[in-house]
Amino acid sequence: MDFALSHGQQEIKDRATEFADRYVAPYAADWDREARFPAPVFEKMAEAGFMGLCVPEEYGGGGMDFLSYVLLIEELSRADAGVGVTLAVHTSAGTLPILMYGDKEQKSRFVPDLARGEKIGCFALTEPQTGSDTAAIEARAEKVDGGYRLSGHKQWITNGRAAGTMLVFARAEGGVTAFVVGLDEPGISFGKHAEKMGVLSATTDDVLLEDVFAPDGSRLDEEGKGLKVALGTLDAGRIGVAAQAVGIAEAAFRYAASYAAERTTFGKAIAEHQAIAFKLAEMQTKIRAARLLTYEAAWMKDQGMPHGEAGARAKLFASVAANEVTYEAVQVLGGQGYMKDHPVERYYRDARVTEIYEGTSEIQRLVISRGIMRDLAQDPGGVQGARPVVG
Ligand SMILES: Cc1cc2nc3c(=O)[nH]c(=O)nc-3n(C[C@H](O)[C@H](O)[C@H](O)COP(=O)(O)OP(=O)(O)OC[C@H]3O[C@@H](n4cnc5c(N)ncnc54)[C@H](O)[C@@H]3O)c2cc1C
Repeated sequence: MDFALSHGQQEIKDRATEFADRYVAPYAADWDREARFPAPVFEKMAEAGFMGLCVPEEYGGGGMDFLSYVLLIEELSRADAGVGVTLAVHTSAGTLPILMYGDKEQKSRFVPDLARGEKIGCFALTEPQTGSDTAAIEARAEKVDGGYRLSGHKQWITNGRAAGTMLVFARAEGGVTAFVVGLDEPGISFGKHAEKMGVLSATTDDVLLEDVFAPDGSRLDEEGKGLKVALGTLDAGRIGVAAQAVGIAEAAFRYAASYAAERTTFGKAIAEHQAIAFKLAEMQTKIRAARLLTYEAAWMKDQGMPHGEAGARAKLFASVAANEVTYEAVQVLGGQGYMKDHPVERYYRDARVTEIYEGTSEIQRLVISRGIMRDLAQDPGGVQGARPVVG
């Protein structure tokens, strides 16, 4: 077993850290206060090759592995969780599914613009009446000559207004079906711009479809295979949300630890009061455990192993840890932690959604527990979790 990053992965991590510290962290509080989507940062990311880091070079990407991409999301999210989720949705939900489920022509047509950052991708599954219950979507794909007409209301679409390409799900005669469409197609408009608790530098919009023509060539995989596409996309996407959670928690921990070393009460640094010291110990331990689960899931994906349950475990643990760690970070700062003068207030709000999007914590527990039952049915003598992590 080797816990060291490869040379290439370490290089990406260093570049991501430098980028995040230089172009993202100093401005994050302003973007949060103004709820501003920082478009120029994504142009800079395109120049840095970050918009398609784990996309094969033949499609305009950086050809790096998924773990490298996870390191990038973690570092960006440490600086600004909204920037982290924007890139995560663009990559794992807007770009990678076209590579996973598209034919050669679709990959060549859609992916290079996304990988080079000339367009931002988005993923439109959720609707006002359904989120977790993906099979209940009501958007319609009516078959017409040469393609489909799409109609429906997609809610809370990350990157919506900023995106150029959308992976969208609608119900055709054969069942839920996936399509890749341009956001400039006639019939597409934007509804409500979500006013959120956190990740305020990310834009989250309703997308309305009225008789949008989607040619047959824009259908991803077969008619009726849309849920397979959606769930396969989320298997990888959840590893990105886990990385986002680890990044937010790391930022909160570092700030709280530094503050605790400086702030004195009753004649000594608060870090020397055991109550605070033990909080820091718990926070750091949770972050390191979350990071290991996240990297393990990314590594499994890179090995071509099934990674749905590993991603669910990583997302569940990391998002809960991020909420606990940011909660404690506010507590370590006392009254200052509640004020916008310190970033822990923002981290606390940003962490909350990691337990909600790309499948709530409850849905992750469903995914994990179904895996346990499946393993038991196959081999009543041994449940996966009882065996060593790898092998
Ligand atoms: C900021 C933000 C950005 C988002 N971005 C996108 C995006 O880009 N694209 C997109 O398609 N969607 C997006 N979403 C939607 C998100 O994925 C859904 O909100 C999420 O999947 C939960 O769905 P829901 O909100 O409809 O909750 P519901 O499905 O109504 O669930 C409500 C509660 O019931 C629980 N619950 C539901 N079913 C079960 C069950 N079977 N067992 C136990 N508990 C259950 C849930 O865990 C939750 O606690 C975004 C959401 C937010 C908040």
